[in-house]
Amino acid sequence: MSTSKQQETYRLSLQTSSGELQAEISVPTSFIPVSDIVPLMRSLGEQALSLEEEKQRLAGKPISCQKGCAACCRPLVPVSPPEAFALKYMIDQLPAHQQDQIFSRLAATKNKLEETGLFGKLVQLSETRTQLSDEDMEPINQAYYAQRLPCFFLENEVCSIYEFRPAACRELLVTSPSELCQDLAKNPVTPLPVPFRIVTVLSLMWAELTKGPARLIPLPVALDWADRHAKENKAHQTGENILQIGLDKILGFLRQKS
Ligand code: SF4
Repeated sequence: MSTSKQQETYRLSLQTSSGELQAEISVPTSFIPVSDIVPLMRSLGEQALSLEEEKQRLAGKPISCQKGCAACCRPLVPVSPPEAFALKYMIDQLPAHQQDQIFSRLAATKNKLEETGLFGKLVQLSETRTQLSDEDMEPINQAYYAQRLPCFFLENEVCSIYEFRPAACRELLVTSPSELCQDLAKNPVTPLPVPFRIVTVLSLMWAELTKGPARLIPLPVALDWADRHAKENKAHQTGENILQIGLDKILGFLRQKS
């Protein structure tokens, strides 16, 4: 471990079902909002994914996802609260014309969701204090996917915020033939097994910090949610404390799988 004035650097070694994850990570020693740790947590998730990807490749099951395929940009994407704040902040920094394009596509998405009565349900989901299970979410996920709405970040079937896309998008990779992804409701696909899900880790971190449910916010309402809750993303903890909470959640995942 080495210390500079504002950062603490750690060497991390995690035994995962995909292999040993080794990383050198730095976090601020000062108080930071939890959204500031999103890039670091996503990078840990991506390193874990790379280990699993290599494991599957060696077993003759390479990833079939390719640039230009946006089949997985039609289902409902869950976003953790820290990611919602980070996404909102990132969009606020974009040039005005890019923001206009995103908000115009988002408005069209909201209109379609209003027409089918889904919009209000998504807002309700984003604000509930009840802990929802995968089973609770299934009917909403099915109704949303039935509309085949392209994500409002898609431009010519390419993600326009690729570098900043949510963890759930990064974690959705398949080893089954890509044609099967054209209809995820009918076709069985084989997702890449992940040692831990960063979207869930971040959601559990937020739950611990706010003493609330492990919230997952549907992407079409995530920016509005971040606006409504902006005051909650305050710097109440040091970067080291937040990282420790995140690592505890990852270890919880790894223990479940061992
Ligand atoms: S954020 Fe990007 S990768 Fe994720 S669903 Fe939307 S377009 Fe696809």
